[in-house]
Amino acid sequence: MYMEILDFDIVVLGSGIAGMTSAIHAELAAGEKLRIALVSKVHAMRSHSVSAEGGISGVLYPTENKDSVLLHGYDTVKGSDYLADQDAVEMLAENAPKEIKFFEHLGVPWNREENGRINERPFGGMSVPRTAFAADKTGFFMMRALYDEITLHKGVEIFHEYIVTALLMDRGRFVGLHAIGLKSGRQVLFRAKSCVIATGGFARIYGFATTSYSSTGDGIALAYRAGLPLKDMEFVQFHPTGLIPSGILITEAARGEGAYLRNSKGERFMERYAKSKMELAPRDIVARAIISEIEAGRGLRNKESGLEYVHLDLTHLDSRKIDEKLPMVRDITTKMLHLDPSKDLIPIRPASHFTMGGIHTNINGEVMAGPSGKTADGIWAVGECACVSVHGANRLGSNSLSQCAVWGRIVGTAIAKHAKGSWKITTEAARELSAEEENRITDLTERKGSEDPYEIMKEMQATLDKNLYVYKTVAGMKRAIKEMRKLRSRYADIYIKDKGSVYNTNLRDAIEIGNMLELAGVVAECAAARKESRGSHYVLEYPERNDKKWMKHTIAQRSIRGTRISYIPVRINKWRPEKRVY
Ligand SMILES: Cc1cc2nc3c(=O)[nH]c(=O)nc-3n(C[C@H](O)[C@H](O)[C@H](O)COP(=O)(O)OP(=O)(O)OC[C@H]3O[C@@H](n4cnc5c(N)ncnc54)[C@H](O)[C@@H]3O)c2cc1C
Repeated sequence: MYMEILDFDIVVLGSGIAGMTSAIHAELAAGEKLRIALVSKVHAMRSHSVSAEGGISGVLYPTENKDSVLLHGYDTVKGSDYLADQDAVEMLAENAPKEIKFFEHLGVPWNREENGRINERPFGGMSVPRTAFAADKTGFFMMRALYDEITLHKGVEIFHEYIVTALLMDRGRFVGLHAIGLKSGRQVLFRAKSCVIATGGFARIYGFATTSYSSTGDGIALAYRAGLPLKDMEFVQFHPTGLIPSGILITEAARGEGAYLRNSKGERFMERYAKSKMELAPRDIVARAIISEIEAGRGLRNKESGLEYVHLDLTHLDSRKIDEKLPMVRDITTKMLHLDPSKDLIPIRPASHFTMGGIHTNINGEVMAGPSGKTADGIWAVGECACVSVHGANRLGSNSLSQCAVWGRIVGTAIAKHAKGSWKITTEAARELSAEEENRITDLTERKGSEDPYEIMKEMQATLDKNLYVYKTVAGMKRAIKEMRKLRSRYADIYIKDKGSVYNTNLRDAIEIGNMLELAGVVAECAAARKESRGSHYVLEYPERNDKKWMKHTIAQRSIRGTRISYIPVRINKWRPEKRVY
């Protein structure tokens, strides 16, 4: 089939909050002089970011809230179980307030206090209320504002529903992206001087997950396949309150507004695990507390799914507060379970939610070429797909949207400068690499394999749900590695039922499943290699954090023998590691 070639100065891969923010800042920095492509496998407004609920962190009123940038930094580093790079955390805390105001100017309707100030709510692991919000639909309103804004930027062309299948690099330099236009079935080569990867996380490798179905980690898998290093892939966050049996998120804002967690005896069990913070302890601690209660026989069981759970209790909250600040909680519980949160208890258990690991970048969002030293030419990564790292071993809720906004500006501005420089689009190498990828896709579609990719996905998710969940064991991690290897070799023999070209969702799904499988293997290998417990990574045989041996970032690179693991130091410039008590 004839391949289409499109030339741009910059290609931004992903149109969530991170991608759209980067594209807007690139254009603001360069004027309309640059041609920017914004490529998304779903319609831009269906990007996962629209489902962000509880809010965005940033110190807006230090005096009134008894807050400071320093305290935001400290909370984030402690929340990360001391694995975050502290200079990056300082950058996050310093710049987040400015970005909340930037979104205010774009038109986000932040909830306000009677005196007109932006309302900030408490969130897990934060010492004081510092999470700005637009009811419990923050992501939707931020995305709406970005989308309205971006359509005014004439230099940005949006390619909705183009799935990128390969990151093309020639001798360490970015040369283009290979994509399939889902509507036409045409394969496309996007050539550009530079690229921003903003493809989100990969929490969908698990079956019981809160994220959208498109959170399959494609950009991270593409980077890995192109030889680029990934960082801290073993750290997957389980959000304490995934609704039974679907996994749909009940936002942490519910606990921020005062909801309790109760076991089958009706006890507020968090007293046993985090006496001072209770339900607002960081997510890793709350998730472990829930599973501990269940394992101690103080949980309940859902007949339909067999899932065990505890209750989230909002019944003591004023019904008007639920309508004003948590309308989506009411919507979700009413529609999914016919429950009224003002009267009924909500069944929940921890669900895979966010991936702290991702593409290894430096503090400026430039993608690294190896564990340390040089950066890859012409590639940046931003948002959940990037590991800067500000979340370390455990992210604090509401710090992701600030990360997307802060590094969206940093990366957008830097990439505009790069594209305005003397770089030229590399034509021949891109065309050759793209032709190879075209053949691979054609072969994938036409081959007569015997394996159903959806079966492989189900088995992958079931294995991870069982063996790489809130509490891990050495045997479970080994089982997961073995199983992922088997599934990868079965994947090599898959068939695509739909041989058509228009909206071939069967082909798209198979590509995504291949990406998830690749990353699931890396997660399992990195997890098994880390012989300690830190943040979201808790191993029963190694229950303690071991700073002497393991205060280091994991780097994973693809090699012919599988995943090559190495380690680099954590940047600690302000807060000495302490015991994490809440
Ligand atoms: C239910 C839920 C609620 C949350 N609430 C909050 C919150 O209140 N506060 C907070 O801080 N965090 C929250 N988070 C986390 C936060 O939503 C995400 O971390 C953040 O939105 C990620 O944004 P992003 O721009 O990096 O990626 P995404 O929004 O995931 O966007 C990824 C983009 O990449 C595109 N893409 C991916 N692969 C390809 C491909 N192969 N080809 C082409 N395009 C591709 C997608 O189409 C999409 O446009 C929440 C998470 C969940 C699951």
